[in-house]
Amino acid sequence: MATIVRKKILVKGVVQGVGFRPHVYKLAAEYRLGGWVRNDASGVTIEAEGPGPSVEAFIRDISARRPAAARVDSVVSRAVPAAGEKAFSIAKSGGKAPAAAIIPADLALCPDCRRELLDPADRRYLYPFTNCTNCGPRFTIVKSVPYDRPYTTMAGFRMCPACRKEYGDPLDRRFHAQPDACPVCGPAVALEYGGKTLKGPAALERAAALLLAGRVGALQSLGGFHLACRADRASAVKALRAAKRRPHKPFAVMVPDLAAAKKICRVSSREAAALASPQAPVVMLRRRGAFAEPAPGLSRLGVMLPYTPLHAALFALLAQKGFRGPLVMTSGNFRDEPICRDRSEAASRLGGVASFTLLHDRPIHNRIDDSVAFEAAGELRLARRARGYVPAAVKLAAEGAPLLACGADLKNAFCLTRGGEAFMSQHIGDLSEPLNQDFFRETLAKMSGLLKVRPRVVAHDLHPDYASTALARALPGKKVAVQHHAAHALGAAAEHGLEGDFLGMAFDGTGYGTDGRIWGSEFLVFKGKTWSRAAHLEYFPLPGGDVGAYEIWRPALALVRRAYGGSWEREAGRLFAAVPRAKLRTVGRMLDAGLNCPETSSLGRLFDAFSFLAGVRTEATYEAQGPMELESLLPARAGGAYKFGLADISGVLRLDPAPAVRAAVADRAAGLSAGVIAARLHAGVAAAAAETAALLASRHGLGDVCLSGGVFQNRALLEGVTAALRKRGLKVYSNRQVPANDGGIALGQAWYAIKGYTQV
Ligand code: ZN
Ligand code: ZN
Ligand code: FE
Repeated sequence: MATIVRKKILVKGVVQGVGFRPHVYKLAAEYRLGGWVRNDASGVTIEAEGPGPSVEAFIRDISARRPAAARVDSVVSRAVPAAGEKAFSIAKSGGKAPAAAIIPADLALCPDCRRELLDPADRRYLYPFTNCTNCGPRFTIVKSVPYDRPYTTMAGFRMCPACRKEYGDPLDRRFHAQPDACPVCGPAVALEYGGKTLKGPAALERAAALLLAGRVGALQSLGGFHLACRADRASAVKALRAAKRRPHKPFAVMVPDLAAAKKICRVSSREAAALASPQAPVVMLRRRGAFAEPAPGLSRLGVMLPYTPLHAALFALLAQKGFRGPLVMTSGNFRDEPICRDRSEAASRLGGVASFTLLHDRPIHNRIDDSVAFEAAGELRLARRARGYVPAAVKLAAEGAPLLACGADLKNAFCLTRGGEAFMSQHIGDLSEPLNQDFFRETLAKMSGLLKVRPRVVAHDLHPDYASTALARALPGKKVAVQHHAAHALGAAAEHGLEGDFLGMAFDGTGYGTDGRIWGSEFLVFKGKTWSRAAHLEYFPLPGGDVGAYEIWRPALALVRRAYGGSWEREAGRLFAAVPRAKLRTVGRMLDAGLNCPETSSLGRLFDAFSFLAGVRTEATYEAQGPMELESLLPARAGGAYKFGLADISGVLRLDPAPAVRAAVADRAAGLSAGVIAARLHAGVAAAAAETAALLASRHGLGDVCLSGGVFQNRALLEGVTAALRKRGLKVYSNRQVPANDGGIALGQAWYAIKGYTQV
């Protein structure tokens, strides 16, 4: 007979709120072991006693057969004296140990719960809050660790006997599912419409009828409110646009299932997997002909599947009424304000938009937007990292003192590090909006509390006037200012664990440079712990500064005048016919005098200018509208690529856009389509960028290239540059887990501070 041993086992990773203790319990039963399992602040602790080989097999299976939503980072065991224990139990959570527990992210409705939800014989038929250990709310309801019901917003709901039985039965799917609930004991919905309130199933029924009739509704969802309406009703979408003051900005849609997604969009296998994943992000899909209204002028449409039982129940009721089409499902906020979380916020801020409100009484503790993902260069990438992904950690290749990186001002997200883990906050938004600064502070307090991190170092953008810089300065700790594009490039390096020397290519709309100018197409050499600027787009003046991102004829005018000098009016003047004459004259005088004309090397503004030159639009109503519409014209049949000049000015390479500008103006004059101009621009930028990168790589002896910055969310460019660099034998790294845009920049700031980089 084998000797009896007892082992104490520590499991770390995403092991709370994902059915881990039931998993351990079932394994212990299978191997006939005694002992216990419990959650504590550092993860899951187990003591298991039985014959040596059985205990070893049990330890192996803890990780090998882990639940689908769990992530095991480490399993450490040591022998302890045997206690003669024969039974196995789930012990009460312990809470005094040092904090290393990871809060699980919210998980989309699982197939088992969906089946019950749609089964008229089930006691949870159309119950909008059903969940189990494999699915349901997590981050949005958790107030403190360990992740147990009393520390969530479910604390106020007393389980009924039926739920209590499931919760206590180790063989039940809902064993220790903290948010477990049913219609008898759990949260309920209420509908407010026309001064009346309906509750329970009648509320859902009525909400579905109102949506069907073309009304705009505010729905309290998982991480906040959505504004919803039929996507196939132009009048409903128009009303929503008018109320949100978003004339063109794309809205995401929700479809009942994958088949419905495939009806309106082309869906690759990787995109299908993302749609149906437990993270259930909005996925940018290539649109078929119909449903232009949610995303005017764009070839892609953001699509998601119902990820809460509330959404699934609504779609089931709509299907009963014969509607299986998409609903617009956009964040319940105004412009760039934070997503509304509770009844009073929705009433004060969405009251004018929505004609009805569907509420529930399970409080949302952490507000969080939908995540947005897209496929490019053979990988799934995040454009917005929020629900389903936050607060999962990004693993770092090195450890440092606990630190906070504050991110940048646009698409803000911050980053907290603990040991070798980086925790990105959810998408916060544009910090020029004061409500988002409150959201930043609120989220920082909550996340540092959950993670038990007290930052000793605070990294921030180099920009002296950024709100994120001011927020950083107001905090205690050592400050580290990080140049914007260095942070972009290091963000990509950090998520790939790249520690050696590399070339960074950071292409974006705007970032403060070390020379006080606005940078945006930067080739940076990282060697040891230093970085330097090795190449960039030749500076051009941006009359009026930031307004040029919307009045995109401004950067176009600056580039045209630079390309043609005194003959610009004769060569290209007629392109500006749509610009009011007085405005054109004023801006011309600004350029003559160099007044309020900051110099920029922004590739974003160059793409803006070319979308104007191609005739796509004169002004934009949202950031990057022109370039996104330009990209939507691809692929177009067009030979040739626009050429860029390349000059070496005291060791720094400069790309001159003038030849490309002249070629585009000539193409337009020759009557070529915007699609051809778009194709030649994308091919030209990719070729020039790859050529410059290859030159620098050989000059500095580098084999690795990191691509980052918002411009690399342009699929055609990312794929073009990646392919061209690989053809030259270079290894290419680009963002996947965190956005390439400023939403991922905090990761690079953190890595910069941990590694102690300096500029040379
Ligand atoms: Zn489930
Ligand atoms: Zn119940
Ligand atoms: Fe940026």
